Amino acid sequence: MTCVICGIEIDSIEDAMDQGWTPYFHEGEIERGPVCSECSGILLEIDEDGAMELKERYRGKVQYKENFMYETYEANLLMGISIQNTIQSILN
Ligand SMILES: [Zn+2]
Repeated sequence: MTCVICGIEIDSIEDAMDQGWTPYFHEGEIERGPVCSECSGILLEIDEDGAMELKERYRGKVQYKENFMYETYEANLLMGISIQNTIQSILN
């Protein structure tokens, strides 16, 4: 998995979650991610709906690693599944 902002790589979703990565965030209507903990600490904030979004002053200014978009989509999907599995195993 690769941070869409700085391009730092991490091997596993577990490590990413341990280190406080953000699976996705919004820039206006566009969904992006994942983002490493350092980038999200600087660039992201929680909006009124409790979702992560890009701080207004950075909108349109961040250069994304667009090449990673497909991989990102897959990683998001996997992260969603792993979170669901975690919730399931707690409920069971
Ligand atoms: Zn980053």
